[in-house]
Amino acid sequence: MSVNHPFNETRTTSVLVTGGAGYIGSHTLVELLSNGVRPIVIDNFENSSPESLRRVASLCGSEPFTLYEGDIRDSGLLDRIFSEQKIESVIHFAGLKAVGESVREPLRYYDNNVGGTVKLLEAMQAHDVQTIVFSSSATVYGDPHTTPIKEDFPRSAVNPYGRTKLMIEEILTDLHATDPKWKIALLRYFNPVGAHPSGVIGEDPNGIPNNLLPFISKVAVGQLEELSIFGDDYPTPDGTGVRDYIHVVDLARGHVHALRAFQKETVPNFLTVNLGTGRGYSVLEMVHAFERVSGKTIPYEFAARRAGDVATCFADPALANRLLGWSAQLGIEEMCRDAWNWQSKNPEGFKR
Ligand code: NAD
Ligand code: UDP
Repeated sequence: MSVNHPFNETRTTSVLVTGGAGYIGSHTLVELLSNGVRPIVIDNFENSSPESLRRVASLCGSEPFTLYEGDIRDSGLLDRIFSEQKIESVIHFAGLKAVGESVREPLRYYDNNVGGTVKLLEAMQAHDVQTIVFSSSATVYGDPHTTPIKEDFPRSAVNPYGRTKLMIEEILTDLHATDPKWKIALLRYFNPVGAHPSGVIGEDPNGIPNNLLPFISKVAVGQLEELSIFGDDYPTPDGTGVRDYIHVVDLARGHVHALRAFQKETVPNFLTVNLGTGRGYSVLEMVHAFERVSGKTIPYEFAARRAGDVATCFADPALANRLLGWSAQLGIEEMCRDAWNWQSKNPEGFKR
């Protein structure tokens, strides 16, 4: 474990991590633990497995962290957690994230994501915990008029999932306006990919993946036959969609940087930053990079554009660098290498 301890009272105070068993949450737990921070996890395992937490603990060689299995909409449980634990701040990952599902079941998304966040904020307010780092998304930029995308670009959403992120951003903005003591970071993630380099934890989507890299990984491991590339006629260099893929370990580090900046009071109490690399890659570039590192051929066919997809989306990450001293360190090779390492070592994900 790293001996770098950015938090002064690491032995007595804790960070509550909602959704800590999930993809980004589990990688963030590793970064917190290796920085001497004690995480407390709440997760209902709706989209994850307790196995990810067991693996985080074994990876970090840490004393097991505290887990509360349950739902962030359960006010009684939240009250118990904040009463039993000395919590200094919250990293809020818990939420549903499947765009298509959000179109079919909007109320479930509003209830879980928006309703759950309100319950969480009420509990924090009641227990005088006023620091929160929130998982927002580049989806709040809708179809950007230009790239790279800066934080002050107009926001819009084209599906209920995106609207939950916009609504939560508004709720947090209102909260801070009412009481500026609240320390709030809106971290707008671009496209998280890859896995911990150990191959011990990684992304484990249910069923057929919606996202590009997990889909490619499953083709490479022989579980899916071929990749459908959604659109070859976008106004991009090779006609396929361009995204800002960011290694999940870099993303996880961004959360530690945000907490540290709040603790050291080196940033304003309300901040909104992009977490991306600043570099876009096309679908075909990702396919070819994955083929290079894995030695596997990825069969693909071109298919129609996917509804709601934009041609190009990549971040200007300069503000995160300036405010948080954070920048992405890992490139496309590491992203594909670590995604493949995880997938090939765990073809069934956390199931074995
Ligand atoms: P994930 O599904 O792997 O993790 C979310 C975790 O929250 C899961 O462990 C799930 O069981 C838990 N959860 C969901 N609802 C809950 C509830 N009501 N109570 C308790 N636990 C609950 O997703 P992820 O990829 O790790 O994403 C984490 C956050 O980041 C989400 O809010 C997501 O919207 C956001 N985000 C993700 C991406 C991405 O591409 N992965 C991009 C931008 C933003
Ligand atoms: N994509 C694709 N085939 C797939 C999944 C994704 O061609 O099976 C493309 C998609 O159209 C987009 C890029 O890959 O251009 C990234 O898609 P992903 O769903 O991973 O992220 P998002 O759309 O949220 O940016």
